[in-house]
Amino acid sequence: MKSIHIENQNSTILIGESYLNIKKYLPEKKCFLICDENIYAHYKSFIDDFDHIIIGCGEGIKTWSSVEKIVEKLLESGADRNSYLLGMGGGLVCDVTGFVASIFMRGLEFGFISTSLLSQVDASVGGKNGINFGKLKNMIGVFNPPQFVICDPQLLKTLPEREVRSGFGEVIKHAFIKDKDLFQFLNDNREALLNLQPDLMEDLIYRAVSIKTDVVNNDPFEKGERKKLNFGHTIGHAIENNSDLTHGEAVSVGMALATKLSEEMCGLGSEESEEVISLLQKYELPVTHEVSAETINEFLLKDKKKNRSSIDFILLTKIGEACIKSIPIEDLKSKVIQLCKDPKPIQ
Ligand SMILES: [Zn+2]
Repeated sequence: MKSIHIENQNSTILIGESYLNIKKYLPEKKCFLICDENIYAHYKSFIDDFDHIIIGCGEGIKTWSSVEKIVEKLLESGADRNSYLLGMGGGLVCDVTGFVASIFMRGLEFGFISTSLLSQVDASVGGKNGINFGKLKNMIGVFNPPQFVICDPQLLKTLPEREVRSGFGEVIKHAFIKDKDLFQFLNDNREALLNLQPDLMEDLIYRAVSIKTDVVNNDPFEKGERKKLNFGHTIGHAIENNSDLTHGEAVSVGMALATKLSEEMCGLGSEESEEVISLLQKYELPVTHEVSAETINEFLLKDKKKNRSSIDFILLTKIGEACIKSIPIEDLKSKVIQLCKDPKPIQ
């Protein structure tokens, strides 16, 4: 087991710890476990040991109506400001749990058992909690870190294959923006990693979490450096919202597009650009997707990170190194639309 402490957030990520040891980490408080239907079906006997609240399934659970449902159930069950919330699930469940914990009676302590690769390497680290507002992702939320996150690679075995690949999209992102060695590790161990070999997965999750933790430690409120974690996400979110691609798949397409733009806008070598795209393909992730000009337009204008008429866009200078470039929205739009029409590098 490896643990990573995020100092300025007083949050500990436990990688390789078994979820069965959860009691070691819970305070002497009335604890409510929150999960979705899938997780309940897989881990029923474990969950039945807790007071639990089951909230539907899918993206629909990240809404006001689930927040209301959870609050209602907490009140019915006699929760008070001394209660503890334990979210068990992927990013959606953890996001909602953390959000409810942050606002219920002005805030409860909470922790997560993270069950998806995507949430183990990404969603659970950094203290972002929130819900969607209509089509807009994470429009309402808070920065508030969980006390602990258990990342048990054994839990990944019950994930559908497509969700595993989606998680790899996010891990690969960390390699692209920050860690050439991790890039090599992913290249060299594709088979074993796609088969979720536990020792290698523990290593992989640890490395990805370390990168994110470093960045978050240095920039807890996303003022600068942390923006690099958004590599592939501006376009990725537009695609995710207008297709049936998973988050990791959409981000993969977004990263491929941003990589092509990097060749033109910040001197990424064409060989490195090809290596980036081929790693995504090795993990069976898509690198192109048809998307309409209106979709891109709508999203760039609504992007919550937008800064007047230009947008902070993340590009690669080389494998393992990213930069933040402020690009006029009109420029970006026409370049992205051109790349979507013609998925070859811009000449
Ligand atoms: Zn992401």
